[in-house]
Amino acid sequence: MRYSKLFAPTLKEPPKDAVLKSHQFLVQAGYIQQIGSGVYSFLPLAQRVLKKILNVIDEVMQAHGAQSCLFNFVTPATLWQESGRFGKYGKELLAFKDRKDNDFVLGPTHEEVAVEIAKAHIKSYKQLPLHLYQIHTKFRDEIRPRFGLMRAREFIMKDGYSFHIDSADLDREFLNMQAAYNEIFECLGLKVRAVEADSGAIGGSKSREFVLLAPCGEDTLVACASCAYVANVEVAKRAKRAEPDNVPQAAFAKFPTPNTPNIEAVSAYLKVEPFFILKAVVKKVLLENNESQLAVFFVRGDDSLEETKALNACKSQVPALSLEDIEGAELKKYGLFAGYIGPYGLKHLVPNALVFFDTDLSEADSLVCGANEEGAHFVGVDLSSFSGLDYKDIATAKAGQACAECGGVLEHHKSIEVGHIFKLGDKYSKSLGAQFLDQEGRACCFEMGCYGIGVSRLLAAILEQNADERGCVWSETTAPFKVVLVVANTKDNALNALGEELYTALLDANVEVLLDDRAERFGAKMADFELIGCSYALIVGNKAKEGVFELVKRQGLSKLEMTKQEVLDFFKGA
Ligand code: ATP
Ligand code: MG
Repeated sequence: MRYSKLFAPTLKEPPKDAVLKSHQFLVQAGYIQQIGSGVYSFLPLAQRVLKKILNVIDEVMQAHGAQSCLFNFVTPATLWQESGRFGKYGKELLAFKDRKDNDFVLGPTHEEVAVEIAKAHIKSYKQLPLHLYQIHTKFRDEIRPRFGLMRAREFIMKDGYSFHIDSADLDREFLNMQAAYNEIFECLGLKVRAVEADSGAIGGSKSREFVLLAPCGEDTLVACASCAYVANVEVAKRAKRAEPDNVPQAAFAKFPTPNTPNIEAVSAYLKVEPFFILKAVVKKVLLENNESQLAVFFVRGDDSLEETKALNACKSQVPALSLEDIEGAELKKYGLFAGYIGPYGLKHLVPNALVFFDTDLSEADSLVCGANEEGAHFVGVDLSSFSGLDYKDIATAKAGQACAECGGVLEHHKSIEVGHIFKLGDKYSKSLGAQFLDQEGRACCFEMGCYGIGVSRLLAAILEQNADERGCVWSETTAPFKVVLVVANTKDNALNALGEELYTALLDANVEVLLDDRAERFGAKMADFELIGCSYALIVGNKAKEGVFELVKRQGLSKLEMTKQEVLDFFKGA
């Protein structure tokens, strides 16, 4: 391709609102254009990168037994009503009506559609297993679309759905996909880790996320410094905490604690370590029927509530959708005082409140807790004196705490999620009534798995991992062109002729080459090479007349002199 014909509208400056380097460079280098909030168009350079990613995904998925499809994007809401997700998925689901007043959704994920297809055609165990996948547009009305392709509203996902006769075969496919994903990411040049994760709105029993470490990541990983344990903070476990030496010695009593509306103040006033103080976090739980309920979560004073764990605890009791903060003034309506909330009399004050205690508090004693009146706490509290407390893992596993697997030290890392695989079990096949006949002729629901990759997010992720301060750096398998041929001085006809000759030779050798034939200064051309980030620049400079060309590698900008033959050999091998 000739650069003069390429539509790559580069900008002098990155967009003002772009904070991530991937977002800055993708816009500045003319890869993408924002059309609306969280909505982007992919221009020719991005389309080239996308196609390479799609090829890798197609090749690996098909080698692992999955078949490529293209599902509908607009889905009748009736399917989502049947699965029970229409009211549950929340505001990320964009729904609308057609001219006949029928409800539709823009697919944020396609479990319902995949089940509908399997349900229509798979009648016998003999037709199983089946794995269908697609690479297509998704729409999620994200509350905070940002960071360019990283968190868009309209984005491209690879999503696959597998159907099995039993959970053992699903387990096999889950491992098969884990291997496939590792292969895909390795082939794309990404250093990715598979970690334990929460299943979120998709649901199911077990899930694994594929993440890459990056300071700009929106997720937090908890990893053990000593063993292989690594999990999203939303599900990360920790060992039971060691009790500090100075255990408070007090008989059970109510104690006046004026002006101590937070843990620090109580701790200073009573000279008790926060470890021994019960912290109450109160949230409003929004339910599927649009009603709400109060939930009180107790954790140690120096622990924090982990919101996903807290929501999952609520889901174990009620059809909870989400948690919302609650103001001190609203708490007073329930007779609760921020900073002085405790378990004594709580059920009396708020009879239908959900109350959970972090597992680290199980059987804990020598505690301090709020007395449910302003300016008073109980001391010498022994939780084993209560019966029927609901203990759940609801606290954040913090950096520096001990690993549940080996006792090693836990660390926190920021990460970007690029893929997520789930064991769904019969969640969707049951609700949508999708059955097959097993070997004994019994009707059974499919066991299902689902497997996603954030394809458009990958463009951003690759750049977050590789880009430098000058611009995009792609992995070798994803760069839009392998090499840019830069004629240093286009006014020199001899150099132009040498450039054309090399261009033809590279095209003949099937090398993806971009000939920079623009009447620009050499410096400007090299700056564009650095901004766009093709893997190599091949410079046709003065030495070309003696048969020597300079090859610049975009990654690291190292330089090498080569003859024409060496250039051809190099790219044939590359
Ligand atoms: P996140 O926690 O980042 O919102 P998710 O858990 O909602 O992700 P999944 O439902 O598992 O995502 O979707 C599969 C993949 O699609 C994710 O691993 C991610 O790479 C990608 N993805 C999800 N939401 C977005 C988005 N808003 N923009 C771009 N890619 C996304
Ligand atoms: Mg999401």
